[in-house]
Formats: sequence, structure tokens, C-alpha cells
Amino acid sequence: APTITSPSPPSQGKLLGGLLSAAFDESSCQSRYKSSLYRKPSPFKLSPYLVQKLRKYEAYHKRCGPGTKSYRKAIAQLAAGRNVDGGKSRCKYVVWFPCNGLGNRMLTIASTFLYALLSDRVLLMSVPQEQEGLFCEPFPGTSWVLPGGFPQGNPQKLHVGAPESYVNMLKNGVIRSGKQPASTSLPPYVYLHVEQTHLRLSDNIFCDDDQALLGKFSWMLLKSDSYFAPALFLTPMYEKELARMFPEKESVFHHLGRYLFHPTNKVWGIVSRYYEAYLARVDDKIGFQIRIFPEKPVKFENMYDQLVRCIKEQRLLPELGTAEPAANTTDAGKKKKKKVKAVLIASLYSGYYEKIRGMYYENPTKTGEIVAVYQPSHEEQQQYTSNEHNQKALAEIYLLSYCDKIAMSAWSTFGYVAYGFAGVKPWILLRPDWDKEVSAIACVRSTSVEPCLHSPPILGCRAKKDVDVAAVKPYVRHCEDVGFGLKLF
Ligand code: GDP
Repeated sequence: APTITSPSPPSQGKLLGGLLSAAFDESSCQSRYKSSLYRKPSPFKLSPYLVQKLRKYEAYHKRCGPGTKSYRKAIAQLAAGRNVDGGKSRCKYVVWFPCNGLGNRMLTIASTFLYALLSDRVLLMSVPQEQEGLFCEPFPGTSWVLPGGFPQGNPQKLHVGAPESYVNMLKNGVIRSGKQPASTSLPPYVYLHVEQTHLRLSDNIFCDDDQALLGKFSWMLLKSDSYFAPALFLTPMYEKELARMFPEKESVFHHLGRYLFHPTNKVWGIVSRYYEAYLARVDDKIGFQIRIFPEKPVKFENMYDQLVRCIKEQRLLPELGTAEPAANTTDAGKKKKKKVKAVLIASLYSGYYEKIRGMYYENPTKTGEIVAVYQPSHEEQQQYTSNEHNQKALAEIYLLSYCDKIAMSAWSTFGYVAYGFAGVKPWILLRPDWDKEVSAIACVRSTSVEPCLHSPPILGCRAKKDVDVAAVKPYVRHCEDVGFGLKLF
């Protein structure tokens, strides 16, 4: 009789050195194991402490997640308008709500997860239809999707003026930080609004006093448009723990992103078909991501000129020649195989692709290298609420992340995610100054593979001293593309 063997767990290599849990069935989410095969090995070490922390979190999530008795109890208390003993209750939750496009969302999910790890909360996601079926479940034997029927799930009510927002509750005297009230006297949930309003994150969140008070709430609802992970590093009470989790601070999103995000088999189909068709056999891959922001449009000619200037100055592509170089032969007289360099373009528009492809179609290169230019889609319009559109956007983020080099538009979270996954420092095509149409500098190399937090918090907390964080903290600096922004390095 045939023996029934249980499937052997995937090897350590496939699990990215322990970053990924071995408890999943491989076929349910192929990208989890196959995506890393399209990339060079990660340049960043993984701390055993982070691995341990992730396994502990997974057990916690399974114990408290949807479908458990603890979850039902916590929901009942929320519905009854009661906060349980937040400090000691076994399960605390943070519910993520979506804001903006896919890149923004991925950065805020990763930040919220880091926050959940630090503050012992279970991360649940309110998934709108346009985001359904994009990502596999990241935690084994449970779900991170907020089940239907959540009593406080009206996204319309989550905005900067919401009376349940932490800052407004402080302002209105509903709660007081510094004081340690009995948890049971607190409202049933707190809403944390972490949006870059006025390009400053609220100064009332990333401070020890506030974190202590926030920690007493069993339920937290959170909406953000920012990569707020660097702000957690600036919160004194989390500093030590973060140092143990991330001895290399530059690798925060790189590791957490590769842990959390795995395209579903459907989206992985798009990614792998494209990769195998066009990118698998080339010698070298370079990605260009051109993002034109509706609120700061740049003329096509200006953007194209800037891209070409960047390519020339940084020698990103082979130079054009005037005549076809003589056929190269080996000593044995055989024709040498020409090197093929692939250019992958991600953009809502096809113009950049057309021009660059045309350049290498009409002209030879000096070295005889072949340049093949590809663009998976050109959607023309960004559509935050279309599921199909988001599938393509996600696929393109992944395809970009397989490139050996990346040049990207300033300010784009879409690009941040791609280079963060790849672990490569991108060239950033700077935005023109506010009063100019053209950027004097075409592009600069990023000093870090971390995404940029566009709106840093004020460091002084209640002292309200406006200190330049980058000048006093050795592990953050200002971003190349957003001068007042901050990034870990
Ligand atoms: P950001 O606005 O550049 O910071 O990036 P987001 O990802 O948050 O929002 C932009 C959205 O526009 C994306 O999620 C996509 O829906 C769409 N988009 C922008 N650029 C591209 C692109 O090159 N390819 C595709 N498929 N979609 C894009």
C-alpha cells in the first residue's frame, strides 16, 4: 500500500533564513517561496531575535485572531461600549484602515505591523474590495482580515476631526496622558490618525507618556498614509527593543515587507508569466519607475529629458554608437554571445517606453550590448478602487523589485516598496523646485534602502521644542527626495 508521507517542510533557504514560517502549505501561496528565487540573496542579516519575535507573534495572532473565543469576547466588549482591562487583557488589537494607493498602503501596513509587534497587539486589516485577493495570509493557521460585522468599521468616521481620535480625546479632556486612569474608565476604543496633515505627524503620539496611555486600550483603530516606522524608532520606550530586532536599521521595511507581503497565486501568475517571458534570461535588469503626480505635474518632455540625463550621468545604460560594432568572436572563431540588458519600465503612460525603446531600436550601442525595453502595462489613470488595476500595480511593484538597479521618481511610495523589497539603493529622479519646471539635478543615489517618512514628528514631545531629528539621532537622516522627510539608514 502507498505510504502517506506528510509534506516535508520547505528548506531554510526557501524560508529566507527563518524569516518565513515553515507552517504553511506551499501550493496555497507560491510566491512566498518562489519570489526570492528571482532576486539576488538579501544583503541584510536577519537577527535571530526578530525571527523569535515573529514566531511568538504568530502564536499570539492564532490565539487571539478571528474565530477564537478571545476574539468574540473582545468584539462583544467593544460592541457593549466597554474597554476591558487593557493592560492585562490577554488580547489587544490594532485594526488597519486603508488610505491612498497600493504603495502607501503597503508602507502603512508594514508600519502598523511593527507597531503591533512593539505594543503587543494583533494586527487586523479592514480590506476593501479593491484590495481583496491581492495578498496571501501572512500568519499561519489564522487570518489577518477583519471579519465582517465589526462594530466600529465605518471608514467615513475615521478622519482627523473624529472625536474618538487620540489627539482629540486629549484636547477635549476625555482622557489625560501622564495620568494612569483605570483601564475600565476608558472609552471602548481609540482611533489613531497618523496622516501627514500639514506635513507634520502629530506630536502627541510617539512619546512614552502617550504610548503608555494608548497601551491601555484593548482596541485601536488606525489610519495612516505614511511610512511611520521611523517615528517608532524615535519613541524612547521602543528604542531598545528595536535595536535588538534590527541591528541593521536600514533593513526594517526590507525584512518586514518580505515577511508580510506575498501576492496570491492569481497575482503571482501575472508576475511569473512576465518574468519568465522577458526577464529570466537577460544578463542585467534595470527598472525605471516614472510617476507623475496629479498635484505636481511635470511635462512629458521635461521628465523624459531628466530621465535621459540621469541615464547618461550615472551610466545606467550602454552608450549609443554610430556604427554597428564589428562582430566579436572568441579565440575558437565562434561568435560571442552578446550581453542583453533589460530595461523594465513602470509608468501609467507609454511615452517613456516608446522613446527609450526607439532609441535602442534605431541605434547600435558602442559596446555591442543589446538593450531590450519592456513595459508590462500603461493604465493611463490611477484607480484606487479597481481590483484589477491594483493587481497590475502589485505585479509591477514585484517586477521592479527583481531589478539589479532601479531609478525612480521622487516621492513615490510605489517605488519605495519596490527598492525596499529588492534591497537596492535607487537613483531618485528629483522633483523640480516648487517654482521651477525642470530639476537642475537629474538624479541622486539614495543612501539607504529604507522608504522615506514624508512627515516627521516633532522630537520634543510635550516640550514642543522643534529639534532637527536628523541632527541628534545617528540612525536617521533627511531623505534625498523630501528634504524635511526622514529615513532610517
Ligand atoms: P504613489 O502615489 O506614487 O506614492 O504610490 P501609490 O501606489 O500609493 O499610488 C499610486 C497608484 O497609482 C498605484 O497604486 C497604482 O494604482 C497606480 N500607479 C502608479 N504608477 C503605476 C505604474 O507604473 N503601474 C501601474 N500598474 N500602476 C501605477
